[in-house]
Amino acid sequence: MPDQFLRDLLQTPGTSGVEQGVQNVVRAFASEFAADVTTDVHGNVLVTLNPEGSPTILLDAHCDQIGLIVRHIDSLGFLRVNPVGGWDMQILLGQRMLVHTEDGPIPGVIARKPIHLLEPEERKNVPKMKDLWIDIGSTSETETRSIIRIGDTVTPEPCLRELRNGRLSGVAMDDRTGVWVIMTALRKLANANPRAKIVAVSAVQEEIGLRGATTSAFNVSPDVAIAVDVTHATDCPGIDPNEFGKIEIGKGPVLGRGPNSNPAVFDLLASTARAGSIPIQVNALGYPASNDGAAIQIARGGCATGLVSIPNRYMHSPVELVAESDLEQAAELIAAFCLAVDASQSFIPK
Ligand SMILES: [Zn+2]
Repeated sequence: MPDQFLRDLLQTPGTSGVEQGVQNVVRAFASEFAADVTTDVHGNVLVTLNPEGSPTILLDAHCDQIGLIVRHIDSLGFLRVNPVGGWDMQILLGQRMLVHTEDGPIPGVIARKPIHLLEPEERKNVPKMKDLWIDIGSTSETETRSIIRIGDTVTPEPCLRELRNGRLSGVAMDDRTGVWVIMTALRKLANANPRAKIVAVSAVQEEIGLRGATTSAFNVSPDVAIAVDVTHATDCPGIDPNEFGKIEIGKGPVLGRGPNSNPAVFDLLASTARAGSIPIQVNALGYPASNDGAAIQIARGGCATGLVSIPNRYMHSPVELVAESDLEQAAELIAAFCLAVDASQSFIPK
């Protein structure tokens, strides 16, 4: 059963640049066990344990989700939008949306003309963003303009569904599950007397270019970091493990291995998992991961960075699917890793 913190994270919308609703959830949770909870000018929330400790470990996950931004209100009162982050247009069609106005969220639907009225060529092609609109039920441009401002954001209506076998489906598993993992790990560490200074960052604006990780890694200046995000599970039709590796839902957190992962951090994560009988999977990446780990590894003069990922089906759709056990084991692994790191350990590659 998802706990209240995870439920709150998944039920609170926030696309890149407008994440403070999500950050309120994080601040409320963290202030129960950490004295040092701060928000920087970029909007990142930083929660620090053991500020005098050494070395400094950064735990990062991003709190933003992909969304839309209102670019134009047309003469019929419909909203014309641009993407915030990477959408699959075929998945966006027909969704229930929330438009985030100054006075709070209002419902809308995202649509195009019905299939009966599409030209044969239009049926074959994936629609473009300019072919879609959001209908809030307004009857005129004037009415819409009285409610909506250019630059308001739009997200899918939150929907958490509990499926069989402890699997959860819904909006923004990417990367609220990661935020849950790092903050839950930190809560475990609050009672465990870590030697290291540990800073958990709920980072903003990952979906538009790893931006919150860039600013917070600069400010924290960590020696070691773990970036937590979702990764593609390949145990569903149409994804070839020969090409993408074998990553399964419910088989444990995934360690990234390759140039974006410090070898000593990888080894310590793997041995920590072994010692704690925590199942892990390994994802080989020959390029920088498309998540905050890529920015953190090359912050300042470099940081020994590890990648811990949550297997996720249907990424960047409103029905992203994860297993609760993978989240719990990821939090357990990261907490144990933080206790295993000591200041004398070298992370310089051999
Ligand atoms: Zn992500």
